[in-house]
Amino acid sequence: IKVIDLNEIHKLPTILSNQIAAGEVVERPASVVKELVENSIDAQSSEIDVTVENSGLKLIRVVDDGNGIDASQVQTAFLRHATSKISEQRDLFRVRTLGFRGEALPSISSVANVRMKTSTGAIGTEVEYKGGKLVGQKASESRKGTTVEVASLFYNTPARLKYLSSPNTELAKISDIVNRLALSHPEIAFSFISNGRELLRTSGRGDLLQVLGAIYGVKTVSKMQPIKGKDLDIKVSGYVSLPELTRSSRNYISLILNGRFIRNFPLTKAVIAGYGSKLMIGRFPIAVIKIDADPALIDVNVHPTKQEVRISDEPMIGKLISDAIYDMLREKQLIPDATRDF
Ligand code: ADP
Ligand code: MG
Repeated sequence: IKVIDLNEIHKLPTILSNQIAAGEVVERPASVVKELVENSIDAQSSEIDVTVENSGLKLIRVVDDGNGIDASQVQTAFLRHATSKISEQRDLFRVRTLGFRGEALPSISSVANVRMKTSTGAIGTEVEYKGGKLVGQKASESRKGTTVEVASLFYNTPARLKYLSSPNTELAKISDIVNRLALSHPEIAFSFISNGRELLRTSGRGDLLQVLGAIYGVKTVSKMQPIKGKDLDIKVSGYVSLPELTRSSRNYISLILNGRFIRNFPLTKAVIAGYGSKLMIGRFPIAVIKIDADPALIDVNVHPTKQEVRISDEPMIGKLISDAIYDMLREKQLIPDATRDF
């Protein structure tokens, strides 16, 4: 056993520092799916196919038809803090891509076996990493796009493996992530297959209602209504359920800010507030709310997974959402028009 000298300061080996970063970025199989699909979205794919086996622990495969990576750059993509998405400080305040931290590929490959095939349209390349170490690189087919396969996730971090929930819960979390990614990008055709069973397929025709139908079923969606916020610099739109259609959890409220699904309690509350007294206590609507705002108003650099962001003007956006829902309900004559009392 090596005795640790607490007075000797040294830089950590790359693989170890990547594993430490992985602790934040790669919490569970669903986080891997999120990071890989976000990369596919950033690569301007029009089709993204996700396959998992054994809730992602045996295999996660994401196939896209996006821009691909040039063979000469693919090893760089697996270096920590290496990204094609930003290059200078002010880029941080105008990020339009989902990624920019350059952490996903090095983190994932430090805790799994990763194989990536990628091509920009010319002769492709294939790399393999195991536990953060490059196993090899060779030429591969030239179909434009990228395929990433993650096998034996957490094989070298037993504590992480032990802390995971049941296979069904982990699968539900993956499914939830894929659904939200599909909702944020109706213009991309998604498929999701788990142990050979297709759990989601969207057309990629850009129709948010169709994606909602694929996720929640057409019957549910027939009870949803379009909403639209006042026409300001910040755009709010989406679909929300009529008060008769509710769920017992807030999880069916999806917020999509500039193509990124986010968790935000004040804005979730604003959705509920839009219903006034129309919802029973403990019941929540199904909603998907799209918010489009100038990236300068949003700080995405708050948390490694970027699901929490800081928004200036949050109360104003909240009011836009509540008002849009309230207006829709009033138009449907589900809420009496206040002015009618006079
Ligand atoms: P980030 O997404 O923050 O840039 P990643 O580690 O996720 O960091 O990816 C590193 C780089 O690899 C990306 O900036 C991108 O250039 C490239 N890349 C990753 N996945 C893909 C993909 N599916 N298609 C094209 N390029 C990709
Ligand atoms: Mg990324």
